[in-house]
Parts: sequence; C-alpha cells; structure tokens
Amino acid sequence: MASATTTKPKTIKPPKVKDQKLFIGGKWRDAVSGKTFPTINPATGEVICQVAEGDKADVDLAVKAARKAFESGPWPKMSAAERGRLLHKLADLIEENLKELAALESLDNGKPIRDSLNVDLPLTIKCYRYYAGWADKIHGKTIPVEGPYFCYTRHEPIGVVGQIIPWNFPLLMQAWKWGPALATGCTVVLKPAEQTPLTALRVAELAQEAGFPDGVINVVPGYGPTAGAAISEHMDVDKVAFTGETTTGQIIMQAAARSNLKRVSLELGGKSPNVVFADADLDAAIEGAYFGLFFNQGQCCCAGSRLFVEEAIHDQFVDKMLKKAKSRKVGNPFDLTTEQGPQVSQEQMDRILGYIDAGKKEGAELLCGGNRLGTKGYFIEPTVFDNVSDSMKIAREEIFGPVMSILRFKDIDEVIQRGNQTHYGLAAAVWTRDITKAHRIANSYRAGTVWVNCYDVFDAAAPFGGFKMSGFGRELGEYALELYTEVKTVYVRLS
Ligand code: NAP
Ligand code: MG
Repeated sequence: MASATTTKPKTIKPPKVKDQKLFIGGKWRDAVSGKTFPTINPATGEVICQVAEGDKADVDLAVKAARKAFESGPWPKMSAAERGRLLHKLADLIEENLKELAALESLDNGKPIRDSLNVDLPLTIKCYRYYAGWADKIHGKTIPVEGPYFCYTRHEPIGVVGQIIPWNFPLLMQAWKWGPALATGCTVVLKPAEQTPLTALRVAELAQEAGFPDGVINVVPGYGPTAGAAISEHMDVDKVAFTGETTTGQIIMQAAARSNLKRVSLELGGKSPNVVFADADLDAAIEGAYFGLFFNQGQCCCAGSRLFVEEAIHDQFVDKMLKKAKSRKVGNPFDLTTEQGPQVSQEQMDRILGYIDAGKKEGAELLCGGNRLGTKGYFIEPTVFDNVSDSMKIAREEIFGPVMSILRFKDIDEVIQRGNQTHYGLAAAVWTRDITKAHRIANSYRAGTVWVNCYDVFDAAAPFGGFKMSGFGRELGEYALELYTEVKTVYVRLS
C-alpha cells in the first residue's frame, strides 16, 4: 500500500544579525566618519544589517594598533609554541560554533548551507590547525661560510600585513591568510569583501576569546577603492596579500610600488582548461566536470570554465551533462537539499547575464539555462553552451558564474596548445585512463595546480596559486610561510 506521508524539505533558520562595528586594537568601534553600509542577503535582496564602513582614517588606526602589537606587548615576547596554541584554540572555537558560522556564511554569501557545513567550515578549521602546527617549526639554517665565522639565518615575521579578501569563500580565504600570518608572528589588518563582512567579524570575536593579544588582528570592513586602497598604499604596512580580480591585483601592485615597496602576494583569476579524453571513465569525468564548474554557483577562481571534450565522445558526454545540469536544484540556501544558491550580488548576476548574452551573440549553442531564475534574489539557471570556440568572449574571460562552455578537440597536441592559450594559469585538469597522456598534460600546462581524474581537491598542506596573470606566491602548505617571513643572515666572528 502506498504511503501518503509527504517529506518536507528540511530547512535551517537563517540567523538574526545585529549591526556590526570595526574591530581595531581589541575594541569594537564605529568608523571615524560615522558611515555605515548595508550587507545584503543575496537570496532575497534584503538588507541583513548595517556594517561600519572603514576608510583611510580607520585603516590608519588599525595599522597603528597592528604596529604596536608587533613591536611591544605580549605578542613579540610570546613563544612560537604559544602562538601555535592560540591558533589551535581559535580552530576549536570555530568548531564549537560551526553551525552558527555556517549559517552566517550562507546568509551573507548565499551559498547552500550544506556546502557551508560540509566544505567551507571543515576546510577553514583544518587550515588553522595545520598552521598551528607550523608555528614552532619555522627556523633558519646554519651555513658553512669561509673564514672564522659562524653564519646562520633567521626566518623573521615580515611585520604588519594587510590582507584583502574576496566574497566567494569568506571564511576560508580569511583562514588561508590568517593561518600563516599568525603562525609566523605577523600582525594583521584584514579587509573582507564589502559583500560578505559578517563571518570575518565573528571570527575576530572568537580570536579575541581565544586570547590573541589586542592589535594582533584587526578587521576593517569597507570598500576596495577606499579601505582597500588605504591598506595597499600605507607606508607602515610591510606586506599586502590579496585574492580577487586580476585588474585589482594590478592596482594593488602599483600602489605597493609607489608607496613603500611592501611585499605583495596575489591570487587572481583563472580560465582553467578541463580536458576529457575519449578513454576516460566517462561518468567520473562528467561528475568532475559538473562539480568543477557549478560548485559554489560557479564562483571559483579555479573553475573548469573551458571544458575541452574529445570529438569521439562529445555527443554522449553532452547528453549526460545536460541531464545533470537540468536537474540541478537551485533555490533557498537554507534548504538542506539545495545544490545552487544565488550569485553573491546584483552586480555579479548582471555581469554573468552579460556573458551569457555575449555567448549567444557570438554563436555558441545554448543547450540549457541562460536566464535569471525568479524575480527575487540573484539566481541564475545552470547554463551550458556547446560548440564554443577559443576566440569567443566566454572562452577567454572569467565569468564567475554557473555557465559551462564546452569546446571540442581532436588530439593531445592540439589541446595542449589551446589550453595554454590564455593569460591565466591557475589550474587545469585532465580525465584519462592513459598514464602517459595524464603526465604529458600535467607537465605541459602552465598552471599552479593540475588535477588528474579529479577536480577541486584542496588540502591545507598542499600549495595553491597561479602562473602568469593568475598571480604569484603560493598559499597553503609550507610554501605560504615564505609569504610572511623575511630571511635574516647573521655572521658571528669566532676569532
Ligand atoms: P575585486 O574587486 O578584485 O574584489 C576583491 C577584493 O579587493 C575586495 O575586498 C574588494 O573590495 C577589494 N578591492 C577592490 N578594489 C580595490 C582597490 N582599488 N584597492 C584595494 N582593494 C580593492 O573583485 P570583485 O569586484 O568582487 O569581483 C569581480 C570579479 O573578480 C569576479 O567576477 C571574478 O571574475 C573575479 N574574482 C576572483 C576571485 C578569485 O578568487 N580569484 C574572487 C572574487 C572575484 P570591495 O569589497 O569593494 O569589492
Ligand atoms: Mg569589487
């Protein structure tokens, strides 16, 4: 007998949020100007709360607090092991508040709650724990120089670091920046993206609870051209770490060059080739290509946004991919079954719709999607273009949305050459059962990460970053410690 029970979709209640202040020198403050800006719920277009709008005057105060904390008080006297213990405590507090932080992230960014719970939060916690472990393992070398000298190097913290992060993975980008900076003994002024300031401020509160001394971390929400520019131009900031758009990275590098030659590390955009050979495990390749493009509403710097499919399996591949894309569940981020939420903002949604238009005009074949979904919030239908050619705008520029471009290819030499035909070099992937082809692709692509028969695998222990205009410097892993340390050489005369 058929049962008449209906199963209601399980939804989580979005949290209520009060207005937010800046976090400077261990205190919550209004902006010097008194200004605030609204942060928006992208699923509804409604204001979540007001946030103090930091500007140059606030950045000045934050840099002063960070300088003071770097040079005096408990932080520079603290043992490396103790710094590690604080990072462990922060990781524990984030874990204790995992559900609250996941809900806050989904509210501010629009990402499905199941992604916040299962991806963003676990990766964030692991990143802090990984760098907690590094804190007391950062050391120099002894060097056998000529003459009566004892020579050694010290890896010293670089100083006050400015960190400017984007809105696509707010908590995770904060962890990638704070983990190595705090493990090495730097002090920090962070500007979260104007679209998603809420979780950065909550983590600052938890860091204070963990026991980080006043001024070691400072969070100044605000806009890029004001607060962000004040950080990158500041004469007393020793280093700026940035993740975002390539053109913004260029502006930041120019500001660093004309101010104090502060160190710069940049993690920028991408247009990553994802290559499916005819001999691949087709179902795995489809699953990986689908995930590698649509994950996080397509808002990933490493999205597999040029999907090269070998002629021989093209039709079969496209049929199966279309079924998946058409059945993707788009909607309320707080519904636990939702796979795709809204884009982060009206601006991003409009930009993506502009790219879809360009694709149609330039003659790509629209197989599904292509429109805004509904009238409330910033939702876009999962979109698939076939028969895309290399010269089309959608094959050259970063779309940062749920828009898949399928390109056909005939052989490996061709796909190596075409895959590398971009100014970007962040990531690449290949699907094949042939070990020779896999390694040829891995060696030939000018990209910071290559995935073989997988996509979007991340681990705090393995470096991530770009070749070419995708930036420079490697975040995560041991490599990221280099971004936050200066090497000092000491000679001691022995006779
Ligand atoms: P963006 O402008 O590069 O934003 C990233 C961060 O830089 C934000 O905190 C932003 O502040 C700040 N910023 C902007 N202008 C600045 C300036 N002159 N000086 C210092 N900081 C500045 O990126 P977006 O406008 O948010 O997104 C645009 C496109 O960038 C996306 O469509 C996507 O293609 C790409 N993107 C890439 C990544 C990545 O992970 N590689 C991440 C996000 C976006 P605001 O808060 O004012 O924006
Ligand atoms: Mg912007």
